[in-house]
Amino acid sequence: MDPNLVQSINLARIVREGGTAEAKGEIHGAIRLDGEQILLEAPALWKVSVTSIGDGELWLSGEIAGKAVLECRRCLEAAPTLVRAHFHHMLRYQPGAEGLEVKEENEEEFVVFGHPDLDLSVFLSEAFAVELPLAALCKQDCQGLCPVCGANRNQTDCGHPLSQEASKLAGLDKFLDEIK
Ligand SMILES: [Zn+2]
Ligand SMILES: [Zn+2]
Repeated sequence: MDPNLVQSINLARIVREGGTAEAKGEIHGAIRLDGEQILLEAPALWKVSVTSIGDGELWLSGEIAGKAVLECRRCLEAAPTLVRAHFHHMLRYQPGAEGLEVKEENEEEFVVFGHPDLDLSVFLSEAFAVELPLAALCKQDCQGLCPVCGANRNQTDCGHPLSQEASKLAGLDKFLDEIK
């Protein structure tokens, strides 16, 4: 398997000797999280660095960037949207612990892991998903769908007049664009 496509970092050395470990890679196709998937137009790139701060505690810092294929809120066509996320976590190494577990102590949150080969996929997917915009546009001046016949107004001029509601909304959008 292409080492670029493995979303993990081996922390055996820094758990033993201290210092910093780094890893980077790519996610192809889609980012998966809780059975959902976020489609990607191109591979998402990520990198992380983990620094030992002693006593089995480590500081994870990373970033991920990629183009997610979202749905345009006006015309429902694909709207590739650049998403960039940074994330940080306090980690605690407890040999034998299963999987990853989030714990809290003195109002500080940390993630317990039991295998020095730390799986990064959840950290990467969560950070990416949090930064997804709630509403995407395929382009700034997307004309949306005709409220009468449902035609995509970017592709065809069906001839239907904009309803009052729709023209009011279009006017508001234009106004918002102008004051930006
Ligand atoms: Zn659109
Ligand atoms: Zn129409």
